[in-house]
Amino acid sequence: MDKSSAVQARRGGVKFVLLHHGGCDGGGFHYRIDEDGQVNAELDESERGQHPRSIGVVLDGDFDREAPSHVQLATLRSLLLKLKLRYPAAELGAHRQVRGGVKTTCPGRRFPMKALAAWSRTGLLGERDEVLRRDFESQYSKI
Ligand SMILES: [Zn+2]
Repeated sequence: MDKSSAVQARRGGVKFVLLHHGGCDGGGFHYRIDEDGQVNAELDESERGQHPRSIGVVLDGDFDREAPSHVQLATLRSLLLKLKLRYPAAELGAHRQVRGGVKTTCPGRRFPMKALAAWSRTGLLGERDEVLRRDFESQYSKI
């Protein structure tokens, strides 16, 4: 299988985007958002990360002790929008929601997981639709 068909096969299989913090000792992250809000790719999306059928995103910081910064969360939301466009069926989750693994608080007790999960079911979909609408309008003229 060449690389592009591996990516295609993988895309169909991504069910979750799982969030982690720097206090996670699991490793195997696809993207890392540093404390300045810069995104770095650590694994190709076609590769398996810490969990199967998942894209792993880690934010640097210990969110059992402090909350992530606004700039980190803003970067995370724009990364989640890109991932939603690539993996429409993928749900957002926290590492601690994975059943059967080592018990963890990841991505941390102070991480605003509930607010972000709520946004992923509302605001994120609106932003995605806006991107798709602009994309459509750039390719087609009005009827
Ligand atoms: Zn984790």
